[in-house]
Amino acid sequence: MNINANLKQEDQAIFSVINKELERQQQHIELIASENFVSKAVLEAVGSVLTNKYAEGLPSKRYYGGCEFVDIAEDIARDRAKELFKCDHVNVQPHSGANANLAVFYAVLKPGDTVLGMSLSHGGHLSHGGTMNISGNFFKPCFYGVDPLTEVIDYDEVERIAIKCKPKLIVCGASAYPRKIDFRRFREIADKVGAYLMADIAHIAGLVVASQHQSPVPYAHFVTTTTHKTLRGPRGGMVMCKEEFAKAIDKAVFPGTQGGPLMHVIAGKAVSFKEALTEDFANYQKQVVKNAKAMADRFIHNGIKLVSGGTDNHLMLLNLSETGVNGKELQELLGKVNITANKNTIPNEKLSPFVTSGLRIGTAAVTTRGMKEKEMEQIADFITEIINDRENAINKVLQGVNSLVADFPLYQ
Ligand code: PLP
Repeated sequence: MNINANLKQEDQAIFSVINKELERQQQHIELIASENFVSKAVLEAVGSVLTNKYAEGLPSKRYYGGCEFVDIAEDIARDRAKELFKCDHVNVQPHSGANANLAVFYAVLKPGDTVLGMSLSHGGHLSHGGTMNISGNFFKPCFYGVDPLTEVIDYDEVERIAIKCKPKLIVCGASAYPRKIDFRRFREIADKVGAYLMADIAHIAGLVVASQHQSPVPYAHFVTTTTHKTLRGPRGGMVMCKEEFAKAIDKAVFPGTQGGPLMHVIAGKAVSFKEALTEDFANYQKQVVKNAKAMADRFIHNGIKLVSGGTDNHLMLLNLSETGVNGKELQELLGKVNITANKNTIPNEKLSPFVTSGLRIGTAAVTTRGMKEKEMEQIADFITEIINDRENAINKVLQGVNSLVADFPLYQ
């Protein structure tokens, strides 16, 4: 891919970083469940002159002049998002998923109000009430987790916890949960205790668009997402809601928690939403799920335990507790064979979050490269060899990885 000649001239250091990162992405098997590869069209929008424009406010209601063209971009992004998710209202300005979540908290909660979210160690996200995050500091968090035996959410237990802690807001959605989420049941629980329901679909947004996962839009008062995971857009966030909350959400994003929107990123979001409206994208999401299933089945066949025994979505969690290698060690060993994945806590984790007994693996990025079930089995075999033989397997597996990625070019 041609990287801007001006950058090469102007700043050799950053030019070199970008080139090296491009090579890394091309030469590695990317299994981080929250990552993906955007199209060249999205890259161009994000790298455009729209980065120069201040546009506080909303289309046609800005605090700055000269917004007539960026208004069109934001309107297109909003219209396409509404079409994709079939929601009443959307704000596409949040700079990230955490910002989208904060905007919902700010719109409906007062400091000290109680929030019920999924615990971080069971797959939740730190912006759902994590004690080291504003959501758990300015608000009073309580948590649900997964059942210790089945390792899936026990909705009756969530209901019992909700009745006990009386939250004003219930948050569902996760960063490391391999199973389907029952949004309808969450809404029943929210109604029972008089709470609002926020569904954070950052991980599964692409699956939702392609009907590979139930949509929370009919059930949740608020739906937040990132745009850069399975949805395959630029880094960013957005909030969807029922019409009655539209004004409160818009105010909570700006001026509540952000300043000027990133218009180049909003244009990139618009481009990715257009892509997400196509049949190609729906087929891609189906393949993401098929690939995750094929890889999970292969791990099980190879004797590797998976949290909850498998996957329904784009990700799986390896339970390494009986393998003699921990999450940190495995992440490092895989780095040596050009496989990128991240260590992750597993339910009932015995090790520190810096070490962990788990590895999280997602199939969104490798599926974008065009890999299918056969390659997923190959990758599961590479990882199993590393788990079983550690350093001894490195040379052989690295050769296998090199030849696999050569067959699936990226950004060429
Ligand atoms: N929500 C969930 C469920 C996530 O998994 C993440 C990030 O991984 C976020 C929110 C935060 O997104 P961001 O990193 O864009 O703030």
